[in-house]
Amino acid sequence: MTASTSAAAAPVAELKRTLPLISVRNLAVAYDDQPVLNGVDLDVNPGDMVALLGASGSGKSTLMKSLTGFAPITAGTARVAGYDVTNLRRGDLRKLRSDVGQVFQQFNLIPRLSVLTNVLTGALPHAGPANLVGGFSSEHRCLAMHYLDRVGIAHKAKEPARALSGGQQQRVAIARALMQQPRVILADEPVASLDPKLADSVLELLRGIATEDGIPVLVSLHVLPLALAHSDRILGLRNGRLLLSAPTAELDAPALSVLYDGEGTSHDDH
Ligand code: ADP
Ligand code: MG
Repeated sequence: MTASTSAAAAPVAELKRTLPLISVRNLAVAYDDQPVLNGVDLDVNPGDMVALLGASGSGKSTLMKSLTGFAPITAGTARVAGYDVTNLRRGDLRKLRSDVGQVFQQFNLIPRLSVLTNVLTGALPHAGPANLVGGFSSEHRCLAMHYLDRVGIAHKAKEPARALSGGQQQRVAIARALMQQPRVILADEPVASLDPKLADSVLELLRGIATEDGIPVLVSLHVLPLALAHSDRILGLRNGRLLLSAPTAELDAPALSVLYDGEGTSHDDH
């Protein structure tokens, strides 16, 4: 490589590192002509922990689903992990989904399988189902143990998933998502089934993954104080529209009350 090409490559590499991993413009989603999201713009950058806040029914899950092609986009654009979700090429939907780690409210583990095996299933989109028959490679097992260590429960590796507490099960689900070596993580109400103390620790774990591991996290929450305590930026959804998007440091509870006005200010309704 000549000096001039390497000099040119550096800014390109830098650009790739800093480009938004999620970039949504003027997005609309409708079910059977019934609009659910309208005019949504958002960016999630490397290192970001972005909270998507809104009352129940405001469209958080639909927005999350639209980013991996699980909800019907009717207008606008969505770029996720380098893919144009509204204009995917053949075969790219599967690739997109394997590049996006997902964490859900109900953990979605296989209860009778060991914690380690549950984490290993995160490698399936890349490694293929042959692993289910032939067993996972020692490299995969090593990596799975590494991620279990990352989420603080390596000592539970051999236990069946069902034997773990809710907070521990969500850590397994996060390790499984990491096993995909995702470019971005979407977490839809990941702490709605956990008590407040566990909720704090799971959100801090996700925030550490965003800032330390460089995998940005978009996390939906309906509990206002949790969003204020555990995010860098807050996007506020109400009735399918983004009412606000601002650094968390510039927001407080009164500023966020517009998301809930007229619906009571219950911060922990489901
Ligand atoms: P949130 O996650 O913020 O509680 P949702 O995205 O689940 O909100 O729902 C937003 C709106 O979209 C609700 O009015 C809901 O009834 C509607 N909705 C969600 N999914 C579907 C679907 N598959 N078919 C029809 N309507 C849906
Ligand atoms: Mg939801």
